[in-house]
Amino acid sequence: MAGDNPQLSRHARHIALAQIGSSGQQRIKQGAVLLIGVGGIGCAAASYLAASGVGNLLLCDFDTVDVTNLGRQVLYGPGDVGKLKANCAAEHLANINPDIRITSITERLNGDQLAATISRVDVVLDGCDNFATRFQISDACVVAARCLISGAAIRLEGQMAVFGPDYQDSPCYRCLYSDADESLENCAGHGVLGPVPGVIGTMMAVETLKHLAGIASPRGILRLYDAASGESSSVSIQKRPDCQGCG
Ligand SMILES: [Zn+2]
Repeated sequence: MAGDNPQLSRHARHIALAQIGSSGQQRIKQGAVLLIGVGGIGCAAASYLAASGVGNLLLCDFDTVDVTNLGRQVLYGPGDVGKLKANCAAEHLANINPDIRITSITERLNGDQLAATISRVDVVLDGCDNFATRFQISDACVVAARCLISGAAIRLEGQMAVFGPDYQDSPCYRCLYSDADESLENCAGHGVLGPVPGVIGTMMAVETLKHLAGIASPRGILRLYDAASGESSSVSIQKRPDCQGCG
């Protein structure tokens, strides 16, 4: 009986799904996910992944909580201002689900460290705020053959895409953006409507759970959300034969 086992009870609505069931929930429990950036996107994604029982969450963010974050980074409160985001997030997520392992990484991961950390996980969620880091993460995911779920939000717009883990015939993040776009904007200078990164982070959590549970999902499609019109659209990402990342 589900009622006799707290874990079964917690995940009863997943287990009731034909697409997940007990075996899918077990795979979710065995899953390891690295979140890079625990800002607006990462807070939403991490909350659902923790609540959903992903067994190993690695939170990477070297930034501290700023008062301007509180309008959308919903894992933090006024008492967290000035503290490291990864540590605060880990504490709040442990409260959401004490039965999972949460590791906070409070330094910037580069080169070998990034590659080693990515090789330990099944899925990488990129919600960071700059292109240089995004390209590094994508390249490391291609080398390690790991699923990368990338998300971004600015003003009233959000976007998300799932890449890999097989990059032989499908595009990588670099196929979507060339190096020439490295100067593209971030939300600090342009503003962002609070829940928009939450929408994107939640979509990323959905894709993560599908990947871990083995629910098939198309790769290499850019999903766009426009909060002004309330509409969503999709664009197919073409694999570039000359891509520096996966070509
Ligand atoms: Zn590529």
